[in-house]
Amino acid sequence: MAKGKINPHCPVTGCKSAHPHRQDKHVHALMLLVEKPHLMCGYVIEGLAQLGNSACNDLANRNALGFITRQRQIQELYIKTLYLLLIADTPEQAHMLSGEMPNGLTGYYRNVNEIIFHSRVDWEATTPGLNGDSFTIMNTLHDGAHVSFKSLVMAKSYFNHPEFVMTPERFAQSIQDLISKVNYMHGMFEAGKPREHVLDGVQALHRPARYWEEQQAKARVE
Ligand SMILES: [Zn+2]
Repeated sequence: MAKGKINPHCPVTGCKSAHPHRQDKHVHALMLLVEKPHLMCGYVIEGLAQLGNSACNDLANRNALGFITRQRQIQELYIKTLYLLLIADTPEQAHMLSGEMPNGLTGYYRNVNEIIFHSRVDWEATTPGLNGDSFTIMNTLHDGAHVSFKSLVMAKSYFNHPEFVMTPERFAQSIQDLISKVNYMHGMFEAGKPREHVLDGVQALHRPARYWEEQQAKARVE
């Protein structure tokens, strides 16, 4: 599709779909779950638990490559769930569920970070590495998901730097934290709360403890 030309079937820039996504019976079936979002949350909770257990077992068994390759799947499922259920409008939801391009993590992450994480999570910042090199979290997630040769070789020395490696217990806790947030969404949607209220609540869950301490201090002064 030429730049600037609008696809009559889908408003997402760059989508080349030749038909409305919902004509696909699989997309239609998934949209039914999105229209009852607590049902989709249920699938996501189970998915995060399974991926988390798998990665946790890899960590406990010192299977570094297995652990590294799982990381983007966990983060991608969480980020895309927030975007799908709390930010995307209906046509964009259908586009996401179709899996057609563009559908990459980076675009969804940028929106979710700005709207829900209060721009506190910077996966694109360049961070100094161990050997005088540098990396970004986003590139590390992509490298792992694609089993790049870089991640293959990095996995070999992964456990040589215990100060950077989470314990299985701490990693399990981080997964539980994601699950508890989706579980909150599940409860709110099931109770019939409007999406704006659920979004407000999830934004609040992503505030740092410091924010709430400052709010309490302000309330005491007033
Ligand atoms: Zn599309």
